[in-house]
Amino acid sequence: MSDPLDSVGRMLIDLHTHSTVSDGTDTPEDLMGAAWQAGLAVVALADHDTTAGWAQAQAAARRCGVRFVPAVEVSTSWQRADVHLLALWPDGDDERLQQMLTGLRTSRDDRVPRILARLHEHGIEISAADVQQAAGDAVSVGRPHVADALVAVGVVSSRAEAFEVWLADGRPAHVSKAAPDLLVAIDVVRAAGGVPVLAHPWGRGSVAALTESALAVLATCGLVGLEVDHVDHDAPTRERLRGLADDLGLVVTGASDYHGHGKAGVGLGENVTAPGAFEQLQQVRDELARARGGPDP
Ligand code: AMP
Ligand code: FE
Ligand code: FE
Ligand code: ZN
Repeated sequence: MSDPLDSVGRMLIDLHTHSTVSDGTDTPEDLMGAAWQAGLAVVALADHDTTAGWAQAQAAARRCGVRFVPAVEVSTSWQRADVHLLALWPDGDDERLQQMLTGLRTSRDDRVPRILARLHEHGIEISAADVQQAAGDAVSVGRPHVADALVAVGVVSSRAEAFEVWLADGRPAHVSKAAPDLLVAIDVVRAAGGVPVLAHPWGRGSVAALTESALAVLATCGLVGLEVDHVDHDAPTRERLRGLADDLGLVVTGASDYHGHGKAGVGLGENVTAPGAFEQLQQVRDELARARGGPDP
């Protein structure tokens, strides 16, 4: 490889991946190499609540001849549900955006001891140092790192089992983190020149809160796209979301949500965004840049 077209001549565009900077298992550099190997033409690094991997990924993407899209997956809340918002091409130097992300990482850090206390109540002893070791160089620490620590001490055998038994919403050690309201996050992302796209809207966690009428409201409040083609959505769900996006004038995206071996069975380019949709997203990016008064990117 790498031919930027796949065997049937499609240009592969994957707009949602994670690195070791959050809860993925490939470094940003290795991720770009893997993207090249998978034949991707375009790849976005969208770590949870941080832009820290961009510089390394950008440099590696240039070396590999893969087009890099700087992105971030922002944790937000809507009707008390956890909703993930992808921001594509935001200005990494935007102060309000970075303040929001710093606040989110602080609430992530504050949550870890509370999760450990819950586990302790159930007789499971994991220390903050165990989680830190599992997190390695991550600047955005999350439940997957607690899951990895549980695997390391032999309490469970996989991340998936750790979530199923302990960490998922409704399980004994679930603790939610404080997160900005979705509408506020959309405003902050747009003001930073970022294109807001709802990540896996009808995946676990957000499906109940993101009703059709909620999506209609969001479409009038600056939301630009829906990540329809995602591993968490089955075929009928994708069909319904595609129809809704069409009705509401939202751009349909697709992406792998790759986490390396942190998410078993999910490969780069497994779900992709159509070139025409990518074109529309870039047009919105350019409009937002003009509205901010800067030169076109
Ligand atoms: P956090 O951001 O710390 O709340 O953790 C959420 C992350 O954990 C998601 O982005 C996924 O990467 C991962 N995750 C959530 N639910 C599960 C699950 N049931 N099994 C495995 N990983 C999960
Ligand atoms: Fe994740
Ligand atoms: Fe997500
Ligand atoms: Zn993700």
